[in-house]
Amino acid sequence: MKKKIVIANWKMNYDLHETTFFIRNFLKIIFERKINHNKKIIISPSFPFLYISNQILQGTSLRISAQNVHHMDKGSYTGEVSASMLKSIGISKVILGHSERRGFFFEKNDVLLKKIKISLKYGLKIIFCIGETETERKKDQQFDIIKNQLEKTVFHCSPDEIKLFCIAYEPIWAIGTGKNATYKQAQTMHEFIRYLFLKKYGEYISNQIYILYGGSITDLNAKYFFLQKDIDGGLVGNSSLKMEKFLKIIKS
Ligand code: PEP
Repeated sequence: MKKKIVIANWKMNYDLHETTFFIRNFLKIIFERKINHNKKIIISPSFPFLYISNQILQGTSLRISAQNVHHMDKGSYTGEVSASMLKSIGISKVILGHSERRGFFFEKNDVLLKKIKISLKYGLKIIFCIGETETERKKDQQFDIIKNQLEKTVFHCSPDEIKLFCIAYEPIWAIGTGKNATYKQAQTMHEFIRYLFLKKYGEYISNQIYILYGGSITDLNAKYFFLQKDIDGGLVGNSSLKMEKFLKIIKS
C-alpha cells in the first residue's frame, strides 16, 4: 500500500510568528494524537520561512517544500530564488506549475520545463501541478489539455528523473472557489493521467507515480477523494491554514 501524501500549500499567508507557531503546535498535536503514521505530510510556507520551518521539523517525518523556484542557475534576476539556494538551506522539494503561477505570473510550459530541469539538476523533488480551466472543461477539452501540459513538460524527463515527481491534478475552476470536482470527475482524470504515464513510461512507473488531487479539499470531502482508486493524496490550500481542519483532512 502506498502511503498517502497530504501537502499544505500556504501560498502568501502567515508571517514568521504564525508560521512557526502553527508548525510547532501542529507537530505536537500529530504526535500526541498519533495521526502521522502511514502518510506523508508536507508543508509549504513562504520563502523567508523555509529555513526555520525545516529546522523545526528536523528529525521528524514531516517535510517542507518551496512553492516556486526560478528557472535559471543564478544571475541578475532581482527578487528571484534559485534551486541551489533552496538546496543550500536543506529544502528538497518544490511545487511547480501551480495555476496561480501560470495565471498571475504567466508561466508557460517552456519556462516550466526549464524550472523542472534546474530543479532536477539540484536533486529537488517536484510536485508538478496540472489542470484545466472551467471553459476548457465546458468544451470537454480537459483530457487534451492535461495531455498537452504533460507532453510539453514532465514527459521530457527520463524514467529515472520521473522518480522525483509527484503530479497534482488541480482543476483551475476548483482552486480556492469552494467548488470541488466531483469524486468521479477527479477519479476519471486521475485514471487518465495514470494511463498517460503507462503509455510513456510503462507499468511500474505508472503504478508508482503519486497523483494528488487539489481544489477545494475540505475536512468534509477529503475522505471521499482519498477513497478513489487513483487518488494518492491531496494538495490543500485554504483548508490547510486552519489547524483543526487540516488535521481532519490528514486523518481522512
Ligand atoms: C491550491 O492552491 O493548490 C489549492 C488546492 O487551493 P484550495 O484548496 O484552496 O482550493
